[in-house]
Amino acid sequence: MGRIRVLDDLTVNRIAAGEVVERPASVVKELVENSLDAGATRVDVEVHSGGRSLIRVSDDGTGMDRDDALLALERHATSKLASARELQAIRTLGFRGEALPSIAAVSRFDLRTAVEDGSGTEIEVRGGKIQAVREVGAPRGTSVEVADLFFNLPARRKFLRSDATELAHVLRWVSRFTLARPDVRFRLVHGSRTLIDAPPARDAAERAHHVYGRQSAERMLPFALERGGVRVRGLAGRPAESLARGEAQHLFVNGRAVQDRVLTHAVRQAYGNTMARDRFPAVLVFLEVDPSVVDVNVHPQKIEVRFARSTEVHDAVRDAVTSALSHDAAVPGLTDLRPGGEVSRHLDAVSASALSYLESRAVPTGAEPRGVGRPGGLYRGGDGATCPAPPVAVAEGLGRAAPWAALAQYRESYIVAQDADGLVLVDQHAAHERVLFERFLREAEDDRVQVQRLLFPVTVELANDESAVLSEEIGEFRRLGFEVEPFGGTAFRIDGVPAVLGEIEPTSCLRELLGEAREARSATAGVGELRRKLVTSAACQAAIKVHHPLTHAGMTGLLDDLARTSSPTTCPHGRPVLFRIRLEEIERGFRRR
Ligand code: ADP
Ligand code: MG
Repeated sequence: MGRIRVLDDLTVNRIAAGEVVERPASVVKELVENSLDAGATRVDVEVHSGGRSLIRVSDDGTGMDRDDALLALERHATSKLASARELQAIRTLGFRGEALPSIAAVSRFDLRTAVEDGSGTEIEVRGGKIQAVREVGAPRGTSVEVADLFFNLPARRKFLRSDATELAHVLRWVSRFTLARPDVRFRLVHGSRTLIDAPPARDAAERAHHVYGRQSAERMLPFALERGGVRVRGLAGRPAESLARGEAQHLFVNGRAVQDRVLTHAVRQAYGNTMARDRFPAVLVFLEVDPSVVDVNVHPQKIEVRFARSTEVHDAVRDAVTSALSHDAAVPGLTDLRPGGEVSRHLDAVSASALSYLESRAVPTGAEPRGVGRPGGLYRGGDGATCPAPPVAVAEGLGRAAPWAALAQYRESYIVAQDADGLVLVDQHAAHERVLFERFLREAEDDRVQVQRLLFPVTVELANDESAVLSEEIGEFRRLGFEVEPFGGTAFRIDGVPAVLGEIEPTSCLRELLGEAREARSATAGVGELRRKLVTSAACQAAIKVHHPLTHAGMTGLLDDLARTSSPTTCPHGRPVLFRIRLEEIERGFRRR
């Protein structure tokens, strides 16, 4: 009897603070949201020691009168919801009425607010207890000062990271607001340093300059799509400029920055195999949907959402981003590849040589190399009879013949081609890899891999671990077109190989794939993941290598097939397949401009 009590407000607010106020950045986020909800055209954020010692957010919004200011500090007090029904269609950033009391419960908190220039109200709160309420001279708007966050929760304070880390989180949130609201002026000052000073801008693309840097932002590819009440727009970073971490990904739903698995997945799917699995694109997605089909009340910090029609939303985002990437503009220019380090050094060298090649363009036809055509004679060219490559079934991407016309082969490794915008250099191995990868994966997924039966079956004696992997995954290998049979002990007989791979060496190819499979299994990858890995590896093995002569017809065939893939600009490992030297660059080089 008498063991259960209703908690007092102070305790309740501290508990709520545990969910709402995780770190200085969450305070900044909640306060800026309030400023924006109050119609501010200017929001100033000042922090000291990463926000641990002080956070001040001031705005020129509507402000509050004395009664409202006092009420605002009460739990579940909000001006943004009048009835439960309105929860179905929230248009403001706040609605829970718990940010101010939660923050005030765990800090030394000062609120200064005025509805008109001149006189206003100041309220001092210490650890949730109101200490003083007074009239003060103040401009219209609101300024909230939060000092010594978690001063009364030492355990929580201990969990704060270094000033630099906390500041990075603050910076990220303010950056997001600048993207979401280009019409508002934002400033972020840390100590005496101004980190962000963003005057009102025309659109998010202009603001992206602040967030990604001008050069990177300008290279991003815009997209926009409207479908069944779902509007998506944004900017997609080029696959060749992927990043090791997901920080450059900003997703907004009706102006609210969110972390959402559906959207992240949609973006990732759009990039598909244009980049390695562990890389992330820089991408900005603005999604507008009817507020009644998105539930924003699923997370105390309001950073997760739930969609009523998530498949539609997912597909709209995926298709929008895909459209940006499959556009021919996705072909990187020479300078676009510079951040890639190794890639760019390699490419710089190639481009210099390619330019000098132009000068000696006359290639006598008699000197045309004979296609060696090991990979099934795919691009042997010359007479059609030796070119067994069927019309590629992956007519998904550009779905047309190559926009690039082959001119010549450089160092028996790179195809020099031209298109309307300039000179295009293609890595023949990467290009063929991309073509084979898509063709093979498509066949495997449709369960119609064509098998090339071997005239003379080969028997291979495997190592113990190889044989174990093959025994367990034999179904998957057979599905991929490897006709293998146990042949006693750790021996297997190979009767056939996937035709798409051409004339690969069956034994070494199989062993290479078993190595991949072993790694994939230890990383507990799913079946889909394993298949992709095997297909990627097989495509790499079977693709024509560098230092491999191609005929003109072979090059044309390869470029045509490449153009029909879903992502002609990157190979399955995420490396660039081609890049362009613009005509302007060439003309500038010759001082014609
Ligand atoms: P919520 O934003 O969910 O309504 P808060 O605790 O963040 O809850 O704020 C409570 C109320 O205080 C808001 O509904 C709003 O009326 C008022 N308020 C808070 N910050 C400001 C501000 N910067 N300008 C004007 N009013 C504000
Ligand atoms: Mg709020």
